[in-house]
Amino acid sequence: MKKEEILKLFKEKGIKPSFQRVEVFKYFIENKTHPSVDEIFKHLVKKIPTLSITTVYNTLKLFCQKKLLSEILIEENQIKFDFIEKPHIHFKCKKCEKIYDIFKMCSIIKCKEVNGHKVEEHHIYLIGTCKECLLKTKK
Ligand SMILES: [Zn+2]
Ligand SMILES: [Zn+2]
Repeated sequence: MKKEEILKLFKEKGIKPSFQRVEVFKYFIENKTHPSVDEIFKHLVKKIPTLSITTVYNTLKLFCQKKLLSEILIEENQIKFDFIEKPHIHFKCKKCEKIYDIFKMCSIIKCKEVNGHKVEEHHIYLIGTCKECLLKTKK
């Protein structure tokens, strides 16, 4: 995604494109990981020395409100953030703790309605051993 596209997206969502906000958003597009507030801060503060963790936190909250990102809660004490490109579920490896995006659609996440309840969000994740860790244990 180019800078102009980010600015266009921000405009559509009614987000003022401050330098910090653009940088935080770029982090998500470039890294495709599921970072925590701390991880984003540590990475960006090298580039923006005046950045504060509160700014990062507030920016992430704003992006979540505007549905650009979603919060994922896999461990109780750790909120991570996810770039919403396509609906997906998460797979977490018990060994390396990496979080993988799974785009293979389980019918449940396509559901708009369940037993008469309206579905607005889903927080589904799978836990196991990832293929890389499986390979390592086979060696
Ligand atoms: Zn693993
Ligand atoms: Zn994800």
